[in-house]
Amino acid sequence: MKLIFLGPPGAGKGTLAVRAVDILKIPHISTGAIFRSAIAAKSPLGLKVKAIIEGGHLVDDQTTIALVKERLAQEDAQNGYILDGFPRTVPQAEALAGFSPVDRVVNFDIPDSAVLERLSGRRVCRNCGTNYHITFNKPKQEKVCDTCGGEVYTRDDDREEAVAKRLEVYREQTAPLIDYYRKKGILIDVDARPLVDEVVANFKKALGV
Ligand code: AMP
Repeated sequence: MKLIFLGPPGAGKGTLAVRAVDILKIPHISTGAIFRSAIAAKSPLGLKVKAIIEGGHLVDDQTTIALVKERLAQEDAQNGYILDGFPRTVPQAEALAGFSPVDRVVNFDIPDSAVLERLSGRRVCRNCGTNYHITFNKPKQEKVCDTCGGEVYTRDDDREEAVAKRLEVYREQTAPLIDYYRKKGILIDVDARPLVDEVVANFKKALGV
C-alpha cells in the first residue's frame, strides 16, 4: 500500500508512522528526516538546505522531488511506503502522481492550538529520529533515547519563530492538498487529537486493516 501522511507539523505523523510500519510492513520515508541526516552529515545537500529548514521555509520543489524519486526507486519501497512530509506543495503532488501514484492519503485532522502545544514540548533523538514529548511521552531517562541511547534534543525548527513560519507555510502551500486529494477520492480523515494508541485505532479503522 502506498500512503501519504498529510497534516501540519506536530500533528503526530512521524509518531503514527513508526506504529504503522509495524502494522503494514512497509518503509516510513520522511523527507524531513532525510534532510536532517544530510545536515548532520554536512553533505552538499545538507549544506544547501540547513538555513532554509532552520528558518521554517520549504526546500525548493526541484530538489525535494528529485530526492523522493530516487528514494522511491529503491528496493524496499517497491511494495508500498508511507510518505511523511511529502508532498507539501501542489507541484510536488503532481510530480509524485507522474512517477508513483498513491493509494490513500491520510489527513491528520488537528486544531492549531493542539499543534502548538505539541511542538513546544516535542523532542527528538539526534541519532534515530524517535519523537518524544516533555509531558505526554518522556524518555525514561532525561535526554536519552529509549530506543538507541542517542541524545534527545529540541529540533532547531521547533523553536518559536520557526514554528510560526512553518504553520503559515503549511496553511498556504500544503493545506490545499487536502482538497486536491479529496477530489481524487483517496483522502481519509483521521482525528489526530487523542493520544497515540487511539490515533492508531482510528487509523486502522479508517484504512480497514
Ligand atoms: P518535517 O520533519 O516533515 O517537519 O520537515 C522538516 C523541514 O524539512 C520542513 O519544515 C522543510 O523545511 C523541509 N521539508 C521536509 N519535507 C519537505 C517537502 N516535501 N518540501 C519542502 N521542504 C520540505
